[in-house]
Amino acid sequence: MKYISTRGGAEAQDFCDILLGGLAPDGGLYLPESYPQVADRLDAWRGLSYAGLAFEILSLYITDIPPADLRALCDKTYTAQTYRWSRDPAKAADIVPLTSLEPDFHLLELSNGPTLAFKDMAMQLLGNLFEYVLDKRGETINILGATSGDTGSAAEYAMRGKHGVRVFMLSPDGRMSAFQRAQMYSLPDANIFNIAVRGMFDDAQDIVKAVSNDAEFKARYKIGAVNSINWARVAAQIVYYFKGYFEATRSNREEVAFCVPSGNFGNICAGHIARMMGLPVSRLVLATNENDVLDEFFRSGIYRPRTTAQTHVTSSPSMDISKASNFERFVFDLVGRDAAIIRQLWREVDAGGSFSIADGPFAARLPAYGFVSGCSSHADRLATIRDVWQRHGLMIDTHTADGVKVAREYRLAGESMVVLETAQAVKFAETIREALGRDPQRPAELDGLENLPQRVELVDAGVDQIKQILVREC
Ligand SMILES: *Cc1c(COP(=O)(O)O)cnc(C)c1O
Repeated sequence: MKYISTRGGAEAQDFCDILLGGLAPDGGLYLPESYPQVADRLDAWRGLSYAGLAFEILSLYITDIPPADLRALCDKTYTAQTYRWSRDPAKAADIVPLTSLEPDFHLLELSNGPTLAFKDMAMQLLGNLFEYVLDKRGETINILGATSGDTGSAAEYAMRGKHGVRVFMLSPDGRMSAFQRAQMYSLPDANIFNIAVRGMFDDAQDIVKAVSNDAEFKARYKIGAVNSINWARVAAQIVYYFKGYFEATRSNREEVAFCVPSGNFGNICAGHIARMMGLPVSRLVLATNENDVLDEFFRSGIYRPRTTAQTHVTSSPSMDISKASNFERFVFDLVGRDAAIIRQLWREVDAGGSFSIADGPFAARLPAYGFVSGCSSHADRLATIRDVWQRHGLMIDTHTADGVKVAREYRLAGESMVVLETAQAVKFAETIREALGRDPQRPAELDGLENLPQRVELVDAGVDQIKQILVREC
């Protein structure tokens, strides 16, 4: 399998060659040159374990790692020990257990990994893939990132203790929840560096961009990233759509709708690809919060990224995006994989503008991809969290609540709907208290997490400050 850029200007690459990089050199995103068709394999796959299924699917996309090694990486990644925080501990071996709210209305628990958010599903695999490829090549990498919460902790838990990898994670001082801070800052591993920046998340992100744009420094200090445009993350996420489908159905003639709380379009992009591969997905229901860039597109055909100043700070913060960095992958498929059209559309986007497909030939093609969308507000989240708690006795987090709210609007008689549960309630305690008047439940093993010793270096928000730390440590 070779990988091509959505903008058509990069040479086709193997999986391991795009694993450690970010954007393609022409500014596009990598995608496989075709989607393997697997409808006739569903019968054989239905009974597989999560790790077994991950191997079957990933081996279609990763053809430059020997199969026995890839299988060992999948077995090592997807264990009941790593994904052990399920509601019903007896179901931990499922890795992504299905919990039913009502007949035909389910949650797929994707947040049972070490940081209690769905990003662990892909990031844990990424950690093992990085270590494997770096070992083979005798190379090292220094991952530099900025986080407002979920991504940074998922990256740190995936990379902790891995040979050849160091992580430098910038976070805005005092702007994360006590739980999120404790999760990251209490890690004792010598290859993890937490850096609190006096400023906002955007300041931290600007520093990361500035360091990465300094090509000489970047090459000299082997700076890399693990952001959501990484193809391996999308690939790893395809697996749980298949697993969720098998758990929600009894035969491969049934169809399932998936509802996905969305921000950067990474999670639902994997759902789109699963559907393109032949998984019987009736609809992909995209849920946003008040940051409704994507809802607007699927309703109007207009893609209009916002500025940071126009981005709302909400109680489902991991969906607070101004533009959806993986969206270009879907539009590439929508326009018939014509890179010239993508270059033209993103010339507008990259210049701070927008585009519309409402009046062209692509609007007519859009329905065939199965997307519908909706959005949710803070009041909706509170009401949904309350309702699910009162009627079903289940505590859900704010992002999952956005999903449940929108999924309910699209339910059809006779159609199974699976809402992806993207985080656990304990990560967003303040909103849970507001909704339910009580503290969220948390896994017993995490009691006292906030009291563990923390390691973090506090610095002013400047590019030089961060470069100095990299020079000192690398
Ligand atoms: C990252 C994240 C999302 C959004 O996922 P995308 O892939 O960016 O669409 C939703 N919920 C939670 C809890 C997240 O951490």
